[in-house]
Amino acid sequence: MSHVFPRHCKKPVPTAVRGEGCYLYDSTGKAYLDGSGGAAVSCLGHGDADVIAAIQQQVADLAFAHTGFLTSEPAEALADLLIEHAPKGIDRVYFVSGGSEATEAAIKLARQYFVEKGQPEKRHLIARRQSYHGNTLGALAAGGNEWRRQQFAPLLFDVHHIAPCYEYVLREESESAAAYGLRAAQELEDEILRLGPETVMAFMAEPVVGATLGAVPAVEGYFKRIREICDTYDVLLILDEVMCGMGRTGHLFACDADGIAPDILCIAKGLGAGYQPIGAMLCTGEIYETIKNGTGFFQHGHTYLGHPVAAAAGLAVVGKIVGDGLCDRARRQGEVLSKALHDQFGQHPHVGDIRGRGLFQGIEIVEDRETKTPFDPAKGYAAKIKTAAFDAGLICYPMAGTRDGRAGDHVLLAPPFIIEDNQIDELVGKLATALEQVIGADPAAV
Ligand code: PMP
Repeated sequence: MSHVFPRHCKKPVPTAVRGEGCYLYDSTGKAYLDGSGGAAVSCLGHGDADVIAAIQQQVADLAFAHTGFLTSEPAEALADLLIEHAPKGIDRVYFVSGGSEATEAAIKLARQYFVEKGQPEKRHLIARRQSYHGNTLGALAAGGNEWRRQQFAPLLFDVHHIAPCYEYVLREESESAAAYGLRAAQELEDEILRLGPETVMAFMAEPVVGATLGAVPAVEGYFKRIREICDTYDVLLILDEVMCGMGRTGHLFACDADGIAPDILCIAKGLGAGYQPIGAMLCTGEIYETIKNGTGFFQHGHTYLGHPVAAAAGLAVVGKIVGDGLCDRARRQGEVLSKALHDQFGQHPHVGDIRGRGLFQGIEIVEDRETKTPFDPAKGYAAKIKTAAFDAGLICYPMAGTRDGRAGDHVLLAPPFIIEDNQIDELVGKLATALEQVIGADPAAV
């Protein structure tokens, strides 16, 4: 009997024993094509010899040094490398162990920044519905995923949520994409004015929504307008690139494609590529200097900040993404994946939308393409597709959309950047089989 407390207590899962390239293998020898990199984590695939060697060397040289006393060479080098490629103004890196730790740190840094600037009344955080920023209490409060929040609602601090930029569902037919983007961004200004600009500290958003909607980028111009609004009201812009960052969208930082730079930027997942748990919160020099010239101490911290082995893994991973041109490859293979998805599902009666950037793609499953009506959530299609795909040897990331006035099933695809064309065909073929098995078997759906 297992003593592990698993994610799903009612259904035992196979034991993974080996990973190689785009595949994982369980203890029976069954292979799984890792079509979502777990959850957009394994950007280099499995068993990368360079990353493994970097980790082995670092463990031998220095496994741990507490950042309360010492820094380490890999942490310094990784910070330098990230800043060399970071959006304009971003100048400092605060290393943590994952995505939720990065978003928690971002919220606390925004608050401390204004306290140190003598504006303690700035305390409100605005975020978006149908977003996900992590599962710890602060991050969960910021996120707008109702299913994840539900039972913890009494424990969460008040965060104000506006609509996401979700063109497929929220753009009016008569409206251009640009006009819709401005209308969506206007919600932020309205909310700031409603709360009082002197009380709003930050706005947090994912440049490409991942774990709640399945790879939904904003329309062109949305984030430019968001940036302007934040500047006008002295509100910090926090971008959560935990899922969409580190080359996944074809740019090292997803916001590069939107032509803006945030004040605070969160990354994780692809930073360690699954080889080590590592995340980071990056911030502008201005924010850092404010803390430095004030109390001189960010009132935060965890034991494993800047862990040398995690940093060494991150350094090897980002070194490869940048050095081996993997952002370009993610963009190119993203086009191959997008085309394969359009070829396979473009006319599918229950695939309403195919969207994404780079190797971060999603499909939205609907009951009726014309009206975009989602299936009844009670059918549980997302979960059933996950199981059917897994049985067919494909790991993908289906999710049930949050209620928020509308349900919906989505499948997120985020394979390793090294994926080859024939493996993309295998991925899309297996996904088609899973959809056929689940939806095709429902007499009400066909
Ligand atoms: N932010 C985003 C955008 C995410 O997708 C996730 C994880 N899916 C998180 C934060 C939380 O990251 P972690 O699970 O590493 O805590």
